[in-house]
Amino acid sequence: MRPAPIRTTCAYCGVGCGVLASARDGRVRVKGDPVHPANFGKLCGKGQALGETVSAKDRLSYPLIKGERASWERALDHIAGRFLHIRETHGPDAIAFYLSGQLLTEDYYAANKLMKGFIGSGNVDTNSRLCMSSAVAGHRRAFGEDVVPGVYEDFEETDLLVLAGANAAWCHPVLFQRFEAAREKRGSRLIVIDPRKTATAQAADLHLPLKPGSDVALFNGLFRFLCEEGAADESFIARSTADFEKLLPLLGARETELAHVAARCGLEENLVRQFFTSVLENERWVTGFSQGINQSSRGTDKVNAIINCHLLTGRIGRPGMGPFSITGQPNAMGGREVGGLANQLAAHLSFEPEAVEKVGRFWNAPSMAERGGLKAVDLFEAVHEGKVKALWIMATNPAVSLPDAERVRAALEKCELVIVSDCMASSDTLSYADVALPAEGWGEKDGTVTNSERRISRQRRLQAAPGEARPDWWALTQVARRMGFGAAFPYESPADIFREHAALSGFENKGERLFDISAYADISDAGYDAMTPFLWPVRKGDKGKAAAGGRLFADGKFAHEDGRARFLFLEDAPPVHGANDDFPLLLNTGRLRDQWHSMTRTGAVPRLMSHVKEPMLYCHPEDMAAFGLSPKGLAEAATRWGRGLFRVAADGGLRRGEIFIPIHWTRHMSAAGTVGALVNPVTDPHSGQPEFKHTPMRVTPV
Ligand code: SF4
Repeated sequence: MRPAPIRTTCAYCGVGCGVLASARDGRVRVKGDPVHPANFGKLCGKGQALGETVSAKDRLSYPLIKGERASWERALDHIAGRFLHIRETHGPDAIAFYLSGQLLTEDYYAANKLMKGFIGSGNVDTNSRLCMSSAVAGHRRAFGEDVVPGVYEDFEETDLLVLAGANAAWCHPVLFQRFEAAREKRGSRLIVIDPRKTATAQAADLHLPLKPGSDVALFNGLFRFLCEEGAADESFIARSTADFEKLLPLLGARETELAHVAARCGLEENLVRQFFTSVLENERWVTGFSQGINQSSRGTDKVNAIINCHLLTGRIGRPGMGPFSITGQPNAMGGREVGGLANQLAAHLSFEPEAVEKVGRFWNAPSMAERGGLKAVDLFEAVHEGKVKALWIMATNPAVSLPDAERVRAALEKCELVIVSDCMASSDTLSYADVALPAEGWGEKDGTVTNSERRISRQRRLQAAPGEARPDWWALTQVARRMGFGAAFPYESPADIFREHAALSGFENKGERLFDISAYADISDAGYDAMTPFLWPVRKGDKGKAAAGGRLFADGKFAHEDGRARFLFLEDAPPVHGANDDFPLLLNTGRLRDQWHSMTRTGAVPRLMSHVKEPMLYCHPEDMAAFGLSPKGLAEAATRWGRGLFRVAADGGLRRGEIFIPIHWTRHMSAAGTVGALVNPVTDPHSGQPEFKHTPMRVTPV
C-alpha cells in the first residue's frame, strides 16, 4: 500500500500554500492541499515544480573548514572556540548572524536566543530586512505592534482591491487567483499603482503608472480628498485613533490638491480622480502592498501614508477592508515573531528595558543584549570596517542579494570568520566561507512557518537529507552547548523549541501584545506532528482558535498602550539619489514569474527556466532608440556602485527613463551581470530597508 501523502507548506512566497507531497522511488510528487486555508488546493507554477527541486545533486553533504572536509564535531568545536575567543577579545558585538526568510521559525528562535541572550549582542538580522521591514516599522508606528490586521478572505470579500507596488499576479499568484475568482462573481474593481505595466497592472480596471517614489504624495492627496468628500469616520477617529490633528496641514496644503498630486506623481489628473473616487465609493476597500512600497528610502512613510487613509475612514479590521502587507518570503513573518530582525527582541517585544529584563528572566540568560543590533546594510558595513569579525550566514546569498554587492563581497573577503550554512554545494556566498555547514532543505527539514495572514503551518520532512546535512536549529544548539550554554539549549527536536517559543509569547502577556500562541505551549510531540494551520493570536484557553474570523482590530482597539492607532504626518520627499547627466536612467528591480531568489532551486527546473533564460535588461522602446540599444543585443549597465552585462529586451509597459532588471541571476551561474552590484545602498531611516527600486544608472550598447 502506498503511504499517505504528507501535508507540508510551499518553500517560496509569503502566501504559504499547503502542499500534499509524497516521496517514492527517489521522486517527490506534489499537489495543492485541498484543505489548507491559504490555497484550497491551488499551487502556482513554482509550487507545482517543488518536487523537481528536491535532489541530492549539487548538495553540500558534509562540513568543510577552509574547503577541506571536516567532521561535524570538528566544525562545531572550531566555531564555538572562535566565538568564545572573539567575544573575549573584542566583545559580543564582534559576532553577528545573518539569517533568512527561508529558515523555519524554530531555526530563527534558536539563533535569536543564542545571540541576544547568551552571546550578548543584538546582531541578528535577516534577508527579510530587504523584503518587508518597512511594513514592520509602519505597523509598529501606527498600530503599536507589527501586525497585519486582515486575512486572505478580505481579498475575496472586498469591492475594491488597490495593489500598490505589488505584482501579485507573478509574485503572490495563488492569492491573486483567489481575488480574481471572487472578482468574477462579485464584480470587484482592481486598481494597480505601479510605475510598470506588470502582469497585475494588465489585469486591472485602472492602472496608475506613477513616478517612482511619489506614493506618499498620492496617498496624502487621497487623504485630503476623502476628508473633503466627507468620508472621514469621525466616531472611529474619536474612539480608536490619536494624532489626527497632526494631519490637518495636509488639508489645506497646495501639494495635496488634485492637480498638484497628479503632476508630482507624473499621472494624468483623470487617473488620480478615478482612483480617489473609487475609494470614496467602495466601503469594502483593501490596499495590498509589497516590495514596491517597502524597498524604498521612504518605505515606512509610504506604509503609514496608506494606513492613514484606512484609519481616516475606519476601514480596517472589518470584512473586505484594510491595509494588507503581502510578505515576500515563506517565513519572513515567523522570523518577525521570534526576533529575527536586529531591532526586535523576541515575541514581538523590542529593546525597552522591561522587555529585556522579562525575556532575560524567561531564558535565564546571562548576557542579554540591551539594545538592537546592526541592520543588514549596516551589518555588512561593520564587517567591512572590521568591527564584526565573525559572521554566520544561513540560507541566504548576500554576496548577490544585498545592495552594493561588490562591497559586500569585499567585506566577506576581509572577515576573520565566515560561516555559511547552506543546502547547496556552491554559491557566490559559499565561496567566502571559512566554515561551510550542510543544512537540510525543503522536504528534509521539520518545523513551522507563518504566512502573510499570520497563519502558522507546518513544513514537514518527506525524506532524509543527503550525506551529513542537519537542521539549522541543531547546528545552533550544538554551538550553544559548546560555548557553555547547554542548560538553556536542551532541544532535541523542533517541537521542543516551538513549545518554548509559544510559552514565551504568553509569558507575562496580559493581552498587551497581540502575538500570543501560548495555547500551544504544552503541545505534545504527537500534537506538533499533527498540527493543522492556525491563525494567531491563540492564547491559553482559546482552545487553538483565533477570534472573530481571525481579523485584528475588529473591536477598534489597537496595541498602543492607550488602545489607539496613530496617524502620522508624512512629508512628501523624493528618493535620495535622482537621475543626473552621468546616470540619466532609473533602475527598478524585481522578480520574475517563475524564479525564486538566486535560483538555487527554481534554476534546476528546465520548464521554469524556459520563461526567461538569461539576465535581462528591460527598456522602453524609445529609450532603446535614444541609447542605441537593439533588441536581443547586449548592454552594459552602470551605476555609481557597479556595472554588469545584460541582454536587452523592449518593454513598452515601462515609463520613459526607467529600466527594469530581474534580481535572480548570480555570478556563480552566469558571467553576466548581477543586479545587487548595481543597486545603491541607501536605506529607509526607520526600517533600514534598502532602496532597491530607485538607482540612477546608464546603459551603453556592447
Ligand atoms: Fe508557493 Fe507562493 Fe506559489 Fe503558493 S503562490 S505555490 S506559496 S510560490
